[in-house]
Amino acid sequence: MTVSSTFTRRRRMNMAGEVAKVIRLAFAAGRITTLFGLEGALQAALRADLCLRGWHWVDAHQAATDIVEGAHSLLGADRPDWYEGQPEYVIAGGVLIARTRCKRCHKKLPEGRLKFCSGLCSSSEKQALAKLRLASSDRAADLAVHMVRRVQ
Ligand SMILES: [Zn+2]
Repeated sequence: MTVSSTFTRRRRMNMAGEVAKVIRLAFAAGRITTLFGLEGALQAALRADLCLRGWHWVDAHQAATDIVEGAHSLLGADRPDWYEGQPEYVIAGGVLIARTRCKRCHKKLPEGRLKFCSGLCSSSEKQALAKLRLASSDRAADLAVHMVRRVQ
């Protein structure tokens, strides 16, 4: 019998309830801005704790993932989609900070241009985002890393 086999569904749900309380308190206190704000930290902490108790990493990771997902389920948290995760989505009207550099190439924006310095930069950015949206998750991760490296 492995250590992880003694970890019952009931135990996981109890832990999910405790994790949900932590998330709810942090959210109510304004320490996180979404119910997913502590997702990575909680998952890592739970996984590390289980590993220190003798669990294999894969089993600990799955259990930690299940617990955090259970907590989000108990809270009724809806994960935002890709569009809701973009900066343009969260900038409310009237709060928009004027952009002075091209989003794509970072050159100074010509007079009258709000986001891109040229039609070429605009269409290039749209094509890159379209590729990202249509890509598999592994390919999307590679493209995202490439896009970040391009900016640096
Ligand atoms: Zn440009």
